[in-house]
Amino acid sequence: MKKIQMVDLQGQYEQIKDKINTSLQEIMETSAFINGPEVQKFQKELEEYLDVKHVIPCANGTDALQIAMMGLGLQPGDEVITADFTFAATVEVIALLQLTPVLVDVEPDTFNIDPEAIKRAITPKTKAIVPVHLFGQTANMDAIMEIAKEHNLYVIEDNAQAIGAEFHSREAKTYKTGTIGDVASTSFFPSKNLGCFGDGGAIFTNNDDLAHIIRGIVNHGMYERYHHDVVGVNSRLDSFQAAVLRAKLPNLDLYNEARKEAALKYDEAFAGQEHIVIPLRKGECDTHVYHQYTLKITNGRRDELVKHMNEKGIPCGIYYPIPLHSQKAYKDERYKEENFPVTNQLVKEVISLPMHTELTDDQIALISKTVIDFINS
Ligand SMILES: *Cc1c(COP(=O)(O)O)cnc(C)c1O
Repeated sequence: MKKIQMVDLQGQYEQIKDKINTSLQEIMETSAFINGPEVQKFQKELEEYLDVKHVIPCANGTDALQIAMMGLGLQPGDEVITADFTFAATVEVIALLQLTPVLVDVEPDTFNIDPEAIKRAITPKTKAIVPVHLFGQTANMDAIMEIAKEHNLYVIEDNAQAIGAEFHSREAKTYKTGTIGDVASTSFFPSKNLGCFGDGGAIFTNNDDLAHIIRGIVNHGMYERYHHDVVGVNSRLDSFQAAVLRAKLPNLDLYNEARKEAALKYDEAFAGQEHIVIPLRKGECDTHVYHQYTLKITNGRRDELVKHMNEKGIPCGIYYPIPLHSQKAYKDERYKEENFPVTNQLVKEVISLPMHTELTDDQIALISKTVIDFINS
């Protein structure tokens, strides 16, 4: 059996090696390293795939979130509501822009931001909600969009973990995640569902004016060469990364399908286990692209299990071990422990198993057997 990895990038590369090597070679020969044709082509192709009017590539997913917030003109002191249970990048950029992060609890079954908690957190200063489609599952966008409309708030989707996932709205419309709110960010970090060979990110929006503003912000606030109308940043996707992404984008649905297949096999293996809760998939099959396959271990032995897996040479991860409201950088006396019962519990129970496009049946069988045998031992 091939060595089990948390993410197998090598295996995926082998399948599209010729295509990638040829494009990278071409870029070296033309020296179109920045803003070359590959970047423009990728942008167009991603717009088509997502069915969104504007994709603005940038340097990484954290920049994408920051730039989205800058583009909306959020001002210091504005309150931005987001999930307590997510990667720190989400709250980091809010704080960095001197906006006020307002962390709220998540749902125990989907791990996504809880719309009821959002409602309770709204004040006259609230300007935006940042739902994260965590672990690849679409957040409850019907409820979130309704709250946003009622309170006149922007919705910025952090789509770093869910590219390719779908959302079926109450009105029976289908959207790709990242095209539902006012603006969205994504990351092409190598281990994401659509990953490049370095750092990369993008912003999506259907709003023409916002897209124009953002295109200037990513390029030093320039709308006309050497005229700087707003304070911007330097945030670019380079041609090498765009070429890798162009080679992978046509396979994205297949990649997500492979992840789903693996998830279903894990589900089957863990069915009926008393102390193991499999990740709930809300809605139809395509609303979860399994960036992570995350179990809850409910008998208090999660940490022992991690140790056991490590000893057996099977990788696993804890996403995330500490609630954001308890992190040194984001602590605030406004936060009361009783408002975060779910996150406080999840950080003790979750464990993510190897999940990627190259997992084999015998690997899945071995991983799940190792978990089950230990939990029942
Ligand atoms: C990966 C990730 C980001 C940041 O993306 P980078 O490209 O690493 O900057 C932001 N939000 C979430 C939820 C992520 O998983």
